[in-house]
Amino acid sequence: MLPRKPLLAVLALTLLGGTAQAADEVVVYSSRIDELIKPVFDAYTAKTGTQIKFITDKEAPLMQRIKAEGENGVADLLLTVDAGNLWQAEQMGILQPIKSDIIDKNIPPQYRASSHDWTGLSLRARTIIYSTERVKPEELSTYEALADKQWEGRLCLRTAKKVYNQSLTATMIETHGEAKTEQIIKGWVNNLSTDVFSDDNAVIQAIAAGQCDVGVVNTYYYGRLHNQNPQLPVKIFWPNQGDRGVHVNLSGIGLTKHAPHPEAAKKLVEWMTGEQAQKLFADINQEFPANPKVKPSDEVAAWGSFKADSIPVEVAGKRQAEAIRLMDRAGWN
Ligand code: FE
Repeated sequence: MLPRKPLLAVLALTLLGGTAQAADEVVVYSSRIDELIKPVFDAYTAKTGTQIKFITDKEAPLMQRIKAEGENGVADLLLTVDAGNLWQAEQMGILQPIKSDIIDKNIPPQYRASSHDWTGLSLRARTIIYSTERVKPEELSTYEALADKQWEGRLCLRTAKKVYNQSLTATMIETHGEAKTEQIIKGWVNNLSTDVFSDDNAVIQAIAAGQCDVGVVNTYYYGRLHNQNPQLPVKIFWPNQGDRGVHVNLSGIGLTKHAPHPEAAKKLVEWMTGEQAQKLFADINQEFPANPKVKPSDEVAAWGSFKADSIPVEVAGKRQAEAIRLMDRAGWN
């Protein structure tokens, strides 16, 4: 006859085994659309058997939903773009840190939260673009110089309501201080050729159409339009190569505070910072891998290499409120 204790131990082990099996699932709330994430998740499922469920929506409702679900939360991970948004999620208290040597090794510290609440996965540069018909690249130098008289009536910008421009402005405040940044932004507003646009594509198209000569956009929008039309009379310029470098932002991911499957979610994030996933994830949207050991696609590499601003991107969040107020004072709508 079996003594009582070992039998209980066997039962307990069986139950634990059952729990571990059920945990082989990860739920992701994503503000990135299906086509940008599904191939990456499919590759992970093929490799590990872990099922990944995801829903997509805009970042604000996803963050509100995580907050509202609280302790009954179903999402393990929040996947979104821009350090400004990830920082907002951090401030809302809906994330928790992931402590991982793998992530720390794969992703440079300036592309992660110092709290470990989120990590960058892919990088995009918010850079200057110009008309190849009306601008010589030698005429360009820095973001700041777009405030010069030379560009009066020749600049196109996207709305200040977009977090991308808020993050760009926030990092400028960090570098130059508020007074000088305000002067620069006022100069940009003075140089606008037309009202601000609702998206980056419209800025590129306005330059192609002759409505303005220079603009500031994220690189992947340029990549997409250039793919559709290789004759596009617009090119990328890498500013500030003699000083702080090009403004870089990211897409990133964070573990939710009440994640039902924290261990499985951590493993997925670790894998997403590794070689196979980095390549897939960055190439799909013509972005740069956040892991510096992974090379960008040939298409992206063809834009040329550049010095990136080494400022920690979480500055975009920390100074977001200041940036919004400054842009408003400067008349950037
Ligand atoms: Fe975008």
